[in-house]
Amino acid sequence: MDKVIVIGAGLAGCECAWQLANNNYQVDLYEMRPKKSTPAHHSDLFGELVCSNSLRAASPTNAVGLLKEELRQLNSLLIECADKTKVPAGGALAVDRTLFGEEITARIKSHPNITVINEEVKNLDFDTKVVVASGPLTSGELAETIKQLTGSEYLYFYDAAAPIVTKESINMDVAFHASRYGKGEGEYVNCPMTKEQYTTFYSELVRAEVVPVKEFEKEIYFEGCMPVEEMARRGEQTLTFGPLKPVGLEDPITNERYHAVVQLRQDNKEGTLYNLVGFQTHLKWGEQKRIFSMIPGLENAEFVRFGVMHRNTYINSPEVLNDKLQLKSNPKISFAGQITGSEGYVEAMATGMAAAYGIIHDKAFPRETAIGSLVNYVSESSSKNFQPMNINFGLFIPPEKKIRDKKQKYEYYKDRALDTIINFMKNI
Ligand code: FAD
Repeated sequence: MDKVIVIGAGLAGCECAWQLANNNYQVDLYEMRPKKSTPAHHSDLFGELVCSNSLRAASPTNAVGLLKEELRQLNSLLIECADKTKVPAGGALAVDRTLFGEEITARIKSHPNITVINEEVKNLDFDTKVVVASGPLTSGELAETIKQLTGSEYLYFYDAAAPIVTKESINMDVAFHASRYGKGEGEYVNCPMTKEQYTTFYSELVRAEVVPVKEFEKEIYFEGCMPVEEMARRGEQTLTFGPLKPVGLEDPITNERYHAVVQLRQDNKEGTLYNLVGFQTHLKWGEQKRIFSMIPGLENAEFVRFGVMHRNTYINSPEVLNDKLQLKSNPKISFAGQITGSEGYVEAMATGMAAAYGIIHDKAFPRETAIGSLVNYVSESSSKNFQPMNINFGLFIPPEKKIRDKKQKYEYYKDRALDTIINFMKNI
């Protein structure tokens, strides 16, 4: 029986270890907790959810719902445990986090092909295949090893990302394309504000609920990366001299100057996603949706990723990984989970599945699937300013013929993805 080392019994590591073990691999699963913990984990359970207990939307006509459905079809252990321990949460799949963690721990520990080793891994000198699934809070010495392995500029230690919306959800009757002072080719989408609109927006922004800052996250502020709400608190007009400055962006028809302008920058090659420039934030996700939807042009914006600011160790995957999540320079070493630059619980499980399939079947998931689209983002997007990303339909191959009706379009993505997954499984 071939042996594989999996590092980290988190969401990605557990899924990966389970799939390998079910396919006759002998797995040594290393987990440093409880001997050594991370600043965000509170228990010694495997697959601990470090923050929210929600795995987000349940419906397969939503991108993350579809990702879960694909995982279900692939006999994912973690989705099975989530379904078993779910709690009422409207349209979302949320779980009792303790029962969820206990179920995963029990299943993993009782698998005859998995040996759990409670030790911190510090280097990658193994003579077998290795999957690094040590998460966004990878311990220091292992992070150092990964840094050397992948090239020092390819490991990021924190994530201070602005929210991202889909282009098609921006109201272009209000917003307009332009670059400041007419330089460039009008790449930015600009959302102009009158004084009244800005004042209302400002007063909500400074009163909004924020996620409490953990001690280990405070370092982020010293890196010159100020959350937008924090900058706003310095004075009512501070933002209009900073990221919301209106100069060089006069009304294209009347030439009048706005009071403030929010700029959105293209975020993916396809031009389907745009980020809010300078809007890295600590606001709770619900508050981000409520307050940023007050920006003219973003009334009905679809947020595919909310702003986050937390420590987040991830590699520059497009530079160093192939489509099976293996190091291009040494395919014996695979990566899975948040460390690859995927963002979110279900995404971590999905990349755990993808890394396992890379080893077991030497195959990448098809691009038509949600898993394939996520892995494609991780391994193929631009390596410049690479940022972790949640699954969203903007990452999928668009339909051959444009489908205007959104519901129909999402149905199309769902049917195409699930048919593809079923065929993919049949063929292997
Ligand atoms: P983890 O689940 O963190 O698993 C990694 C495991 O590796 C851990 O058990 C760790 O102890 C172990 N480990 C680390 N280093 C070593 C080592 N050297 N040797 C052995 N073991 C090691 N996503 C959401 O969808 N919703 C949220 O609400 C959310 N909140 C987050 C809050 C914070 C503070 C952070 C940091 C991230 C959050 N995320 C959230 C993002 C992400 O989904 C989670 O971090 C998720 O747990 C990532 O899964 P993972 O398997 O990659 O890593």
